[in-house]
Amino acid sequence: MNDVHISKSGLARIFHTDRDEETVKADEVRRAMKSDDGCMSPYCLRKTSSSTQHPSGFSGSAVDQYEISGLDRFLLRGECMIGEILLKKDCSLRHHEDQFLLEEDLLHYETPQAAREIIRYDAQGKFRPLKTAPNLRRGWLLKLNNIEDVILALDFFYPMALHLYEAFLENKLSVTPLRETLDRQTGMYRITQLLKDEQAQELISKSCCSENGCLRQVLWSISKDQAITTLSDQKKSVPLNPREIPLLCREACNLLVAAARPLGKMNLPS
Ligand code: SF4
Repeated sequence: MNDVHISKSGLARIFHTDRDEETVKADEVRRAMKSDDGCMSPYCLRKTSSSTQHPSGFSGSAVDQYEISGLDRFLLRGECMIGEILLKKDCSLRHHEDQFLLEEDLLHYETPQAAREIIRYDAQGKFRPLKTAPNLRRGWLLKLNNIEDVILALDFFYPMALHLYEAFLENKLSVTPLRETLDRQTGMYRITQLLKDEQAQELISKSCCSENGCLRQVLWSISKDQAITTLSDQKKSVPLNPREIPLLCREACNLLVAAARPLGKMNLPS
């Protein structure tokens, strides 16, 4: 069974009961991804003069100074998956279920900003509030010019995904238990603090499950003493696959907190 513990330094470390095996696997992956300049992350940061504005919340200047160069090594292996997207070394992206379709049968796009249009609505035309929901529409092909554009597009498709995975590989990913997230809420969301543990477990099983909820791996717990019991161990761990960039969730998102509100309200004393 996998679990998440918070180290004394405040940084989260992801432990598994079979941790020795996982540690060896992680070391192997890190070694395989080690760059020529010695960086152990597949997304080594290095200086660049790009002035791209990323949507992930990183300031323009922070992103200006660095590029996540390890992604090109992922692509040099041929292809890699991130969420529902198949990335190829020619800097093209498509829905992975479209991989055997002819390119002429797909709608072509050429700029990273096109990702914003692709992610907005699902195949039924419904707005997608959660970008990591497993309902990315099919039928498109995004052909980009370089790795910087790929990184920008991915930041539109799956905000922060590359940065979170990089932090995980460097053992710098901090996670926040649900109770801490709810305790931080103010105003109309403060009532979520009344959420009962069993309500939280049920809510998480519906909202975060990969099948019809969210593709992120859930790394946080209900509280420091209580694990999530309604998700599989697989869903609560980080797959170490050099051909796949996993989507990680380090704390409950705003949508989950919003969904907790009516449940918390039900617990108000009458
Ligand atoms: S809390 Fe995390 S895993 Fe759950 S729906 Fe939100 S982003 Fe996805």
